[in-house]
Amino acid sequence: MEISVREKEQKGTRPADSELGFGTIFTDHMFNMDYSPDKGWFNPRIEPFEDIPLSPATMMLHYGQAIFEGLKAYKTAKGEIQLFRARDNFKRLNRSANGLCIPQIDEDFVMDCLKQLLKLEKNWIPETIGTSLYIRPTIIATDPFLGVRASNTYRFFIIFSPVGSYYAAGFNPVKIWVSKDHVRAIRGGVGEYKTAGNYAASLYASEEAKKEGYAQVLWLDGIERKYVEEVGAMNIFFNIGDELITPSLDGSILPGITRDSVLHLARKWKMNVSERKISIDELKTAYENKTLNEAFGSGTAAVISPVGLIKYGDEIMEIGGGKTGPMALKFHNAITDIQYGNAEDTESWIEKVE
Ligand SMILES: *Cc1c(COP(=O)(O)O)cnc(C)c1O
Repeated sequence: MEISVREKEQKGTRPADSELGFGTIFTDHMFNMDYSPDKGWFNPRIEPFEDIPLSPATMMLHYGQAIFEGLKAYKTAKGEIQLFRARDNFKRLNRSANGLCIPQIDEDFVMDCLKQLLKLEKNWIPETIGTSLYIRPTIIATDPFLGVRASNTYRFFIIFSPVGSYYAAGFNPVKIWVSKDHVRAIRGGVGEYKTAGNYAASLYASEEAKKEGYAQVLWLDGIERKYVEEVGAMNIFFNIGDELITPSLDGSILPGITRDSVLHLARKWKMNVSERKISIDELKTAYENKTLNEAFGSGTAAVISPVGLIKYGDEIMEIGGGKTGPMALKFHNAITDIQYGNAEDTESWIEKVE
């Protein structure tokens, strides 16, 4: 398929790296493509970043049939542009599409479209370590129809946002709050897909946690409310004794690419690593026995986010003296060194754009 290009006449300017926040600034262009049952995916095009005119009856607005991805492009010290495990993001987008009755995309074709858009927008990619160009591929249901069914038509788009270092005040541990009353997802539901409704479902507890002064919610499983699942929109890891533990993917947890990268490195480094169920009671016991050494979240936005404190009911567990632990630091450095081209890409995770 031929990708048409319509360039913006008046190009914007990228703010200084030090002024970048997260998700507020968008670049000059976007990629768009539409789907209809008779044409399949059609009219792939690069156009100026602009509003999408939608009927107020658009199905996505009412029934939440929408999926997305989040990944980043990095600029190396030599000025090269590179992506980290981007094909895994498109594979996961197709997994989410299947779960939400959305038609599959051609992963190779969409990868080519992304690269072409990146080349056009290369001046928008920040250069300082810790900054990057955040990439948001999205698919929305576009039938104007009131009534619940899968849509017949869809829009696929990719937008870019230059983002700053996630750690404005350095690589510091966050305080997290265990939700006893709310759950994010249940097995058999859509928790393992990156779909809009999961984030709507997380808001009430997140706002509650924020009011109490906590950065994120630690989610327990939706059925027994006993097993740890995720933290905010990140996967979670614990170091108890000499074991590195992350909850197994059993249907209600988002299969994070950063999670998979941590597991891969941990196994390569011959660490004692387990993907298994871990209950909040096991955490409490480990805390009391002083064997809970570290906890950290993993996700594209922050890569690794150390956890310094967990609050569960009246109980407060301070972890690693509230400081960043050696494991969190080691994984953070190993992954970001590969992303920014400061270490050899021994795992073939990098895809060069230019
Ligand atoms: C995106 C996301 C993650 C992290 O996935 P990465 O591929 O590592 O960025 C974890 N949990 C939830 C709920 C997410 O949406």
